[in-house]
Amino acid sequence: MKMKLHVLEISSLFLFVFEHRNMKCMTCKGKYDGDAGACKQCYEDLKAKVALLTMPHQFSISFAPDLSLFACDDGHPDGPVQVSAHTVVLASRSPVFGAILDNGATEIHFYELMLGDLCDFVNYLYTAEICLDQKLARTLLGVAEKYQLHHLKDLCQKFLVSNLNWDNSLATYTFGHDRNDKQIIDAALKLITNNIEKLASSDEYAELKRSHPQLVIEIYERHFASL
Ligand SMILES: [Zn+2]
Repeated sequence: MKMKLHVLEISSLFLFVFEHRNMKCMTCKGKYDGDAGACKQCYEDLKAKVALLTMPHQFSISFAPDLSLFACDDGHPDGPVQVSAHTVVLASRSPVFGAILDNGATEIHFYELMLGDLCDFVNYLYTAEICLDQKLARTLLGVAEKYQLHHLKDLCQKFLVSNLNWDNSLATYTFGHDRNDKQIIDAALKLITNNIEKLASSDEYAELKRSHPQLVIEIYERHFASL
């Protein structure tokens, strides 16, 4: 009887551990250990989003927008295109916006953003959500650095690293160097050196030799160091 109880206790403990090892994250639907409702990665993402969206004062979105944001005009017949926003929202998102707007500015020009990118960016500032692609991630990484938007910078870096493949590896590697971004450089360099036998035959390689010969040296140095 004692033995039986013992087995029962162990099996229920096992079941408890098993259940808690197989919790489904409510956000990414992946399995995780624990019972917090979200995996560690999603919890950290959520925390960063809440930090970004936290406002210093009571604020109702029904207030009329009081700030004009302009995309680069790109030859638009009507000149630069305007998007409306709230000063209090932008000032709370970034210390750089805060400093600009403290000086009484009522408009901000984003010469690096086309209208579509600006709309995505403004939507991000209000929701902490953004749907990235290669081009947008690269553009917004620069914008995020310029305006000290750490959460956005992190999203862009993660997107570029997790979407690395052989076809975009040299372009991503060069981009990482242009931005002096160690995380992107290291991830791209690892993928390139793991496929070093394919390197010399790629079209991008010929272009890289011409445009960034020092990067070719870095690739081979890393490759030989790993042998
Ligand atoms: Zn998750």
